[in-house]
Amino acid sequence: MKIFTPASLALKDAVATPFWTGNTQASDHLPALTTDATCDLAIVGGGLTGLWAAIEAKIENPSLDVVILEAQQIAFGASGRNGGFFSESLTHGLSHGLSLWPKEIHTLLRLGRENVKEIFEFLGNEKINADQNFCGKSVMALRPHHVAELEASFKQLREYGEKVEFLDSAETRKDIDSPTYLASLRIHDGSGILDPAKLAWGLRASALARGVRIHEMTQAMGLVSNGAGMTVRTQLANLHASKVILATNAFRPLLRRMRNMAIPVFDHVLVTEQLSHAQLESIGWQQNQGVTDAGNQFHYYRRTPDNRILWGGYDAIYYKGSNRNISQEQFAPSHQLLSEHFFETFPQLEGLNFTHKWAGMIDTTSRFTPVIGRAYGGRVAYAFGYTGLGVTSSRFGARVALDFIANRESELTQLTLVKRKPVPFPPEPIRALLVSKTRSALAREDIDGKRGPWLGLLDRMGVGFNS
Ligand SMILES: Cc1cc2nc3c(=O)[nH]c(=O)nc-3n(C[C@H](O)[C@H](O)[C@H](O)COP(=O)(O)OP(=O)(O)OC[C@H]3O[C@@H](n4cnc5c(N)ncnc54)[C@H](O)[C@@H]3O)c2cc1C
Repeated sequence: MKIFTPASLALKDAVATPFWTGNTQASDHLPALTTDATCDLAIVGGGLTGLWAAIEAKIENPSLDVVILEAQQIAFGASGRNGGFFSESLTHGLSHGLSLWPKEIHTLLRLGRENVKEIFEFLGNEKINADQNFCGKSVMALRPHHVAELEASFKQLREYGEKVEFLDSAETRKDIDSPTYLASLRIHDGSGILDPAKLAWGLRASALARGVRIHEMTQAMGLVSNGAGMTVRTQLANLHASKVILATNAFRPLLRRMRNMAIPVFDHVLVTEQLSHAQLESIGWQQNQGVTDAGNQFHYYRRTPDNRILWGGYDAIYYKGSNRNISQEQFAPSHQLLSEHFFETFPQLEGLNFTHKWAGMIDTTSRFTPVIGRAYGGRVAYAFGYTGLGVTSSRFGARVALDFIANRESELTQLTLVKRKPVPFPPEPIRALLVSKTRSALAREDIDGKRGPWLGLLDRMGVGFNS
C-alpha cells in the first residue's frame, strides 16, 4: 500500500518540466541544418555561453559569419533550468577564490564586477527584460557550526568592501520566517535573481538581429580538422568553419581532453503554486532576495515575480560512467526529499502544492570554477565547468574563448584560473568511488562541522569541494 505524506501529496500534480521554459516560449523554432554550409565561426551549444559567444563575436566584428548549432532548442540545457541566481563571483564565492588564487583575487573581483555590469548594460540597451532584481542574497545557518562560519564570512566580506549584515536568529526570522534558521548573512551587493529563460530568449533575439544563423535540432556528432579550418559533422550535414567554440556544458564533450575535466551532476528543482496573501505574510521575505543554506549540501530558493517559490539543490547526483541519460532528471526520491525539506523549512506552508519538477546537469569541475581552453592550434576553444554558477560567468567564459580563437593574449587569458586547468577526474570505476567518498565526507562535515582527513587532503591538492 502506498503511503501518502504531506510532502508526497504536494508533488502529485507537478508537471515534469522546467518552470522557466514551460512558461516563456520562444515564438518560433529555428530550422535544422540540412545541407552543407560554411561560416567563419561555428558555435556548438545554444545556452548562455554559446549565445554570448555569438553576440560578442558580432559586436567585435559585425561582418563575421556566425552559426550556432543547438542539439535541441535554445536554453534546453542548464541555461533554461537553473535557479536564476546571478552573481559577480567568478570564483564560486570570495573565500573559495581566496583559497585558490589569493594573488589574483582583486583582479578576479574586478573582472566579475565588470562582467555583471556589462551584462545588464547590454540588456538595457537591447531592451531585454529578464525580470532582473538586484536583491542580493541571504545565507542561512541551520546548525550551530554554521553560525561561526557565517561570522567568519561576514568579517571576510566586510574586509573586501561588501555591503553585508550578520543577523541573529530573531532578526533572521523577522526577515524570512523559518524555525530552522539560527542566524544569517545578508549580502546586499553583487548578486540577485532573474528569469533565465527570458534572458536566453532575449539573447537569442539579439543574436538573430545581428545576423547570427541558429540551427536548432542539430546535434554536432564530431569535429575534424580540414586543412586551415574545422568541419563540424551533424546528423544531416557538415558545417565548415574557420573557428569553432564548444559551449556544450555538461553534455557529452566533442573533445577527448574535455572528458575528465568536468562531470555531469544532476541537480533537482521544484516550483510551488502561487502563494496566497496569507501564505506570503506567514513567511515575510519582503526583500525577495535569493536564499541558500550554509553547508556543503545546500538548498537554494527564491521567489518568482508571480509569488511562487523555486526550491532546489541539496541532493545532487552523479551517475556512474558520467551517464547523462535525460530520463534521470525525473528522479522521484530526490524530488520527494526536496519536498520534505521544503515543509521542514516552512511548516506554515503545509498544503501548498508544487506545480513543476525537473533537474538539470551541472558541469562540475574538481575546483568548482570554469575550464576554458583551446585545441587544434587555436582553431577550437571551449568554455564549460561553471559548477552551478554560470548564469553570468558564462559570458566571461565566452569572452575568454573568443580571445583564444582570435589568438589574442589578454588580461583574461593570462589569469591563472584560465591558464591552469583543474585536477582531472580519474577514469571509472575509481571516479564513481571517489565522488561517492567525497559526497559522504561532505555530508559528514555538514553534520559535525569537521573537515575530516579526506576533505583536508583534497584541499591540499587544490580540489575545491568547499562551497
Ligand atoms: C538545476 C540547475 C540550477 C542552476 N542554478 C544556477 C543558478 O541559480 N545560478 C547560476 O549562476 N548558475 C546556475 N546553474 C548553472 C548554469 O545554469 C550554467 O552554468 C549555465 O547555464 C551554463 O550555460 P551553458 O550555455 O554553458 O550550458 P547549457 O545551458 O547547458 O547549454 C549547452 C547547450 O549545448 C547543447 N549541446 C550539447 N551538446 C551538443 C552537441 N553535440 N551539438 C549541439 N548542441 C549541443 C545542449 O542542448 C545545450 O542547450 C544551474 C544549473 C542547473 C542544472
